[in-house]
Amino acid sequence: MIDFRSDTVTKPSKEMLDAMLNAELGDDVYGDDPTVNALENRLAVLTGFEAAMIVNSGTQSNLCALLAHCERGDEYIVGQGYHTYLYEAGGAAVLGSIVPQPIQVQAGGELAFEDIEAVIKEDDAHFAKSKLLSLENTHCGKVIPLEYFKQAREFSNKHNLLVHLDGARIFNALTELEIPLDAICQYVDSISICFSKGLGTPMGSVLCGSKAFIAKARRVRKMVGGGTRQAGLIAKAMDFALDNHISRLKDDHSNARLLASLLKSHPELTVTEPESNMVYVALSDNIDGQKLAKDLYQQSIKVSAGQSLRLVTHINVSKDDIEYTAKTLLSLID
Ligand SMILES: *Cc1c(COP(=O)(O)O)cnc(C)c1O
Repeated sequence: MIDFRSDTVTKPSKEMLDAMLNAELGDDVYGDDPTVNALENRLAVLTGFEAAMIVNSGTQSNLCALLAHCERGDEYIVGQGYHTYLYEAGGAAVLGSIVPQPIQVQAGGELAFEDIEAVIKEDDAHFAKSKLLSLENTHCGKVIPLEYFKQAREFSNKHNLLVHLDGARIFNALTELEIPLDAICQYVDSISICFSKGLGTPMGSVLCGSKAFIAKARRVRKMVGGGTRQAGLIAKAMDFALDNHISRLKDDHSNARLLASLLKSHPELTVTEPESNMVYVALSDNIDGQKLAKDLYQQSIKVSAGQSLRLVTHINVSKDDIEYTAKTLLSLID
């Protein structure tokens, strides 16, 4: 099966599993797991933040961040389609009594500063307290440039906002921007990074920020049942991914561009030029998206059915898979 549904479907390689088997372990709730401690230190150095904390998932990481930055009755300003608003079961509001203030996302995946400014509330007993700006990079595969984060920092300082970056796929963004992680982190107060997507680990995310922020986040992590014991098993996979799976992200991006270029001339398909590892293909009304997904499945290609396909490239999709997929898809709609 060639699975294009997401870059979360990747399986750990034998080399990654071997590394995990050799990890030195301890109890991380006691702070005793040397492999976890080493990974957290490594991430602190890479991001330029004082501290880092491993978590089970990106959702848990963002939840810890929002609850550590905001108190009950505070508000975070966020993109309508951003993960921290739309795809986390309302966790910040449900569990933290934090008020979301969603605003429209621009075509490039960023938020417009005038839109943010328009929803910032003055200090008045009627209003929730505007506290945090929650950004995302990449958003729907779109790469948001460094300059935007510089401006977001200046803007947030002026308006007394903290900034959280949901960098679930930040290494995909950095691959295109050709800058190191700390270049972007200097402009935000915290970052969350997923390792279970393009980096190919079975699970695991990391949240980074100041020592005081991570100390608060650790309490939230414990509260939501995210304190784990011999977590070094996962930290080792994450360490392996940092060593081996970052430089290859450019292959996923060139595979995405190849797939787009092979599909784009077909009159029934509207293909958006990919900026990282996601290809969006809108199907004309002449094509039945549900049937196409079933037909592709018969040819060993898995996609999420719909009139707009999101095809995600990752470590378990090769260039040959891309060529086979384009050929198969074109033959099915002709
Ligand atoms: C996937 C994703 C997350 C959350 O990751 P999980 O590990 O699935 O909880 C957060 N933010 C963005 C932008 C994502 O794509």
